[in-house]
Formats: sequence, C-alpha cells, structure tokens
Amino acid sequence: MLFPREVLPSLLHLTPAWLKARGLKGVILDLDNTLLPYGEGDLPEAYRAWLSDLKGAVPVYLLSNALPERFARVQRLLDLPGHAPALKPWFGFRKALKALGLPAREVAAVGDQVFTDVLGGNLVGAYTVLVPPLREQEFFYTRFIRMLEAPFRRPRGGVTR
Ligand SMILES: [Mg+2]
Repeated sequence: MLFPREVLPSLLHLTPAWLKARGLKGVILDLDNTLLPYGEGDLPEAYRAWLSDLKGAVPVYLLSNALPERFARVQRLLDLPGHAPALKPWFGFRKALKALGLPAREVAAVGDQVFTDVLGGNLVGAYTVLVPPLREQEFFYTRFIRMLEAPFRRPRGGVTR
C-alpha cells in the first residue's frame, strides 16, 4: 500500500504519451511540492507548457491538503478542477475519481509524499506515481515524515526510472 507503481525523476516525465502507454486517461495531481514549490503561488516556467499539454490530453484534478484560501488562489491561476483540504490519504480520492468520471485503474495519482499521495491513491486502486519534492526546504514535520518514507520511495519490486 505504501509503494508507488512508478517513480519518476520529475513531474515533466508524466506526458500524454506516457499516460497513453499505460492506458491511463486522467490524472489526480498533488499541489504542494509536486506542482508548486511549497508555499509558492506561481507555476515554475518549465511546468506551464507541460501542464497545458497535459490538460489538452486528459482531465486533471487537483487534490491537495493545502488550506482552502491558498488552494483557491492557485486553482484560479491553473484553471483546474479540484478541492482542498482533502485530508489525504483517507479522504478526497473517491471524490476526485467521481469528478474525473473514470475508474481508478485508468487514473494516475501523482504526488511527492508516500503517506498522503501514494497511500491514498493505492487505497482506491489508482496508478500511483511518486515524484521528488520540488523543494527540500520544508517544515520539520515533513522532514520527519520523509525519513519514515525513505524505504518506500521506489516502486514495489521494481526499479526507479
Ligand atoms: Mg505534496
């Protein structure tokens, strides 16, 4: 339940072709440290074209544990459906799947954290993808969690791509 299906070196590797090759037709995307550096409100330049391509190919749903005010601001900027705070891993994923209108096996659940993004995605049966956090400068709590996560930051029985 804690191992992702795949580990990618960057979110930019998650392309429409990559999804198509795996039969994936939608994406549930984490926000903080996956798409945006923690606490920041604007998309890194490299990610703008990437997101525009992705949105053009498949439905993308933003699922975040961020506070609602910050999330609403970012959501307006990115023009994506989604909700927050989701209370991942226990809540949010089913609602996201329903909004996407796809079965879990056809949806990539993408994020930087094992105990929220990967566990939550695995619990509903989505295709879980772990990416490295955009910024390592984080709260002490997150760093502590990273330490617990370390053994699981690889696909089960597989290799890191
Ligand atoms: Mg995150």
